[in-house]
Order: sequence, then C-alpha cells, then structure tokens
Amino acid sequence: MRLRFAPSPTGYLHVGGARTVLFNWLLARKNGGTLILRIEDTDRARHVEDSVKKILADLRWLGLTWDEGPEVGGAYGPYFQSECLPHYYAAVQRLLECGDAYYALETPEELAAMRERMKDQPGGFKYPRPDPLPTIEQGLAARAGGRPVVVRFRMPGTDIRVNDDILGRVVLPAAELEDFVIQKSDGWPTYHFACVVDDERMRITHVLRGQEHLMNTPKHIALQKALGFNTPFYAHLPVIFNMSGSKMSKRDKERAIKRGEPPPEIDVHDFRAAGYLPEAVLNFIALLGWNPGDDRERFTLSELTEAFTIERIGKTNARFDREKLLSFNMDWCGRVGEARLLAALKDYLTVNARPAVNAGSEPDAAGAGPPPATASATLAARALTFGDDTLRRLLAICAGFKTFAQWLGKVAFLFMDDDAIEFDEKSVRKVLAASNGAGYDALAGVADRLSVIDPWTVASIQAAIESHMSASGLKLGDVAQPLRVAITGATVSPPIFDSLELLGKEATLNRIRRCQQTRKPV
Ligand code: GLU
Repeated sequence: MRLRFAPSPTGYLHVGGARTVLFNWLLARKNGGTLILRIEDTDRARHVEDSVKKILADLRWLGLTWDEGPEVGGAYGPYFQSECLPHYYAAVQRLLECGDAYYALETPEELAAMRERMKDQPGGFKYPRPDPLPTIEQGLAARAGGRPVVVRFRMPGTDIRVNDDILGRVVLPAAELEDFVIQKSDGWPTYHFACVVDDERMRITHVLRGQEHLMNTPKHIALQKALGFNTPFYAHLPVIFNMSGSKMSKRDKERAIKRGEPPPEIDVHDFRAAGYLPEAVLNFIALLGWNPGDDRERFTLSELTEAFTIERIGKTNARFDREKLLSFNMDWCGRVGEARLLAALKDYLTVNARPAVNAGSEPDAAGAGPPPATASATLAARALTFGDDTLRRLLAICAGFKTFAQWLGKVAFLFMDDDAIEFDEKSVRKVLAASNGAGYDALAGVADRLSVIDPWTVASIQAAIESHMSASGLKLGDVAQPLRVAITGATVSPPIFDSLELLGKEATLNRIRRCQQTRKPV
C-alpha cells in the first residue's frame, strides 16, 4: 500500500488536511504501507512563503511522520512538484502527439467573453472544443507570437465511473465534463495534471482525500487512461461542518474578525497556539467521519491504528463540535502524565512567546519588523522563565483546565507587574467594600501578620492566616477572598496559600497596599 498526503503550500495545515493525513497515516501504519508526503507547489500564484516549513512543523507537532518526502527523501523523488517539471512536460508532449491533448489559443479576455456569451446554456458554461482543433504547429506559432497558449486535455466523451471505497459508485456523465487545462500558458502543469503524473510516478495505490476532490477524480481517471497509468483506489472523506451547519473553512476566521469576535481555531497551528494537546486534537479529528463501531471515544494513536478501517468511514458530513474538543483536551491533560504535560506546556509557552515568528506575520508596511509582542506573549515569555518545578506545581494546583490558554489565564497574576493588576469593580464592591468595608478590615489585619513572616512558605502563610482567623473570629473565606482580590484583581485564583507563596512576599504586600487604596473614604 502506497499512500500520499499532498498539501499545497498555501498556509498552515488546516484541520481538514490534518484529518486527511491522519487517515492516510493510520491506513499506512495498519497495513505496513508507505506514506508519502508530496508538496503540490505548482500554483505559483497561491504559494505562501514558508508554508512548507509550517506544514512540516504542524505534522511533527501532531506526531505524524512520513516515510518518503521532504527532509526524509525516498526512491521516488523529487517530492516537490516544482522540481518535477520535466516529467510533466514529457507527459504533456505524449498526449499532444497522440491527439489526446491540444493547444488552446484563447486569451483570458476571449475566454471571459465566451463564458459571458454562453453563461445561460443548460448546466452552465462548458469550454466548447474548437473544430477543427488547432494543430501542434498552429499552437507553437501562436505561442511564439506571444499568445498565452495553454494545453487542454481532450475528454474521451464517455461517462466516467469512480469506484469510491466510501461512497460507492459515482458516475459522471460525459456531458458534464469539459476539456480542462493541463498545462498553463507559463508552461507549468495544473493541479490535475501534476497530481496524476505524480500518483503514477510515486506508485500510489490508494488515494484518500477530502470530498471536495470528488469531482476532480473523473478528470484524473480520464487522464490515467489516456496516459496508460494505473488507477489507484479512491476514497473521499466526508466534509467537515461547523455546528451552525456551514462548511468549516479558513474564511471563518475573517468572518469572525469582521463581526468583532475572536477568530475560531481552524489551522492545526491555531490549536497548538491555543494550548491544546496534539493527543486530544488527533483523537478528536479521528472521529470526524470515522467511528470504531462501538461507543469508545478515547484513543491514543496506537489504539487508533489498531481500530481504524476504511469501512467505518461514513458518507455523511462530520460536525466539528468545539465543546467536545475542549472536553477531550481537558481529559487528555489529566491522562498524559506529568512529564508529558510539562513538555506540552513548554511548547505552548514557547510558541506563544514568539507569536510574531510563529504566526508568520509579515513585517509592517514600513518594514519595521514583526509586530510588538502581545500581552499574552509577554505572559508566556515570563512563565517560561519559571523553572520546571514551579511549572509542574502550577499545573498540579490548577488541574481541571481545558486548555493551556485557560491555565495561563489562571496563573497570569503571578507573572504580571504589580501595577498591572486591575481591580474588578464588582469584586471590590462585593468582597471588600460591603458591610462597611469588612473585607478591607480583614485585609489590613492579615497584612500585618503576613508582613512579619520569615521564611515565606505555604506553612508559614497558612499559620499566619489561621492565627488571624482565630484572633478575629473570621472564616477562611472572609480572609481568603479579600486576599484573592488584592493579588489577582478578582475572586478566582488557584489555592490561596500556594498562590501567595508563589507570588512572593514583596509582591503580595505591594498588591495588598495597592488594593487598600481602592477604599473610598466614608
Ligand atoms: N494539493 C491538493 C490539496 O491540497 C491535494 C489534493 C489531492 O489529494 O489530490 O487539496
């Protein structure tokens, strides 16, 4: 079994692509097959700088390795289509010579005018094959004269049958298939052509790809027949939909930004940067269109390899349930073990501490370099300066977070400058000012006791707070909540004794003083 994942370098790897590569990977692993990574970079207009690097990094983050392709080599290279032009030229030449392809001479303007003229014909515009066809000599002469000449494939004029391993038999009537372009006027092959030539050249036996390619497959099969190539087995994976019922797409991000909402995670990198574990992401996307046939939901990669079969891939659309992904992630954070969780956390912090580099942001218009670090980048960078022991402890005391981003939110107060703490008005009113400032009084009392502690440890902090409680008759909440508002600005924090110890004595007392200044004179 030889399978391939063939991304175009147009940006980061998105979840749909991640699911495609995962399913190919699982099938290859399960059957002792070979997974090939092929970069389909013949569309120069859509090429996005650094995409290949990003896609490889996303695959590595997911833990999905490839047996042949960029950085690992193999016997069927090159694995970048931009390095294979001679193969495509030779194949185009063969088709031209046997009459299965022809030069088409229309300029883009002429084509647009044809399209306009024929837009109302039933089934929409279909390129009308010229009669007679331009000869090779006419094509070459037109090209020499400066015309943007393309090469079109002459469709066989018969219905084309696709035997899909998931969808069953799909027939495309000849009337719906037009003579499509296989070589552009700049001499580069189109996606369809390069894909077919390379599937043969790389001895691909099985093509698993998204359903958006289903209508491309008849073209590919027709080309394979004309070129005397093998037709691999095809399986088209169900489309991924948002919960709202729209198709999940990269454009969802722009739409959200326009609406003034935070952009949803779409690319694998988004999930990495938002603090998801690759274990959870893989587990979740495996269930987008596949099911094990029973009610199991949690799978490691090796359990997936064991359970995976093409037969259990569904035909119907998959739903991307973000709530479910969050709960998977929370669950996986509790499962992976302390060492793995720490390593994943450090990856998250590293990625976020360098957002400008990792997000591939362009320098601004003035060429002034990447944009300045965001507030969360600063927090992530500060968190990274904490040693492993502290980070491990912070993971433990905050257990139950859904993502590392949520974890960072919970511990951010530790990394912030004291005067960056903003006191939430509602918390101040409720916890400090209510009952004639009882909270402020508790804060003042406990501050006196905290100020004389040495050394500053969980035990000494606990003792100081408890002695204030017994002297004043207050309950723990009466003291802890005012302290929480003082050190975090609001009423939620990890366990209070740990929070105070980790924050340190100086910062604790400093924040208490700042908080006391919010007291309004009566
Ligand atoms: N380069 C194509 C894409 O990124 C691959 C399609 C295929 O698998 O044939 O969608």
